[in-house]
Amino acid sequence: MSVPYIFLRDDDIWTDDEIFLELSCFLKKLRLPVIYGIIPSRLEPRMRDILKRAKIDDPGLLDIVQHGFQHVNVAPPGKPKYEFGAGRSFYQQYQDIGDGFNIMQRSFGSSFTPAFMPPYHGFDAATLQAVEKLGFKVFSAGKKAVLSGKSFYDLPARVALNQYRPDGVALAFDSRMMVARCRQEMHGGGMIGLVYHHRAIKDAADMRAIKLFFRFLAQAQERRDARLFLFSQWIRWKEGHEKISA
Ligand SMILES: [Zn+2]
Repeated sequence: MSVPYIFLRDDDIWTDDEIFLELSCFLKKLRLPVIYGIIPSRLEPRMRDILKRAKIDDPGLLDIVQHGFQHVNVAPPGKPKYEFGAGRSFYQQYQDIGDGFNIMQRSFGSSFTPAFMPPYHGFDAATLQAVEKLGFKVFSAGKKAVLSGKSFYDLPARVALNQYRPDGVALAFDSRMMVARCRQEMHGGGMIGLVYHHRAIKDAADMRAIKLFFRFLAQAQERRDARLFLFSQWIRWKEGHEKISA
């Protein structure tokens, strides 16, 4: 059986809240790489500086990537949420994603990995065209993007580590549930994209649960039952600058 390749995404990043700081420190101790999805229009200067410093200090442990532009839901009531998708023209989407891209480049320079992750996993053909035109190298939603001759690497994140109440409030899973979901995927090998939201962590029990899950991932990595990777590494592997290591 081939060793599964796993990436870990933490979405909705813009401020240096305590939960973020505690978890990023914990992940660093475990040497678990994480991809941070930044909401460009909300990014606070202090958070920008923290992330930039972390990437410079330990580039193999985190990626800084773009998660939408404003992270607003524009879907009609009762429909699946999206910031980018049907009902928005190519030009509108290109404009917003491009504004976000400029903020990311200005804020992070070479520490920014040109990857785009649409909020709520929402996208349509115009979103993909905008992503291509702007020169992103990675696209990551909940499912594969149907587009022939894609110029970007399409790395979907199918496994959510939290769930949502009908009113949209994020709820954390317990650790057993997260481990079970991940194990189930690991049996199949291949690539596994995991998404969590540190903002879904509401109390000490949620924090314990996610830390237990991260320990499980770190052990899998240590035992070589899984290979954790970053989008920036994927780009280097694919472009032949670095060998894929197991
Ligand atoms: Zn989000």
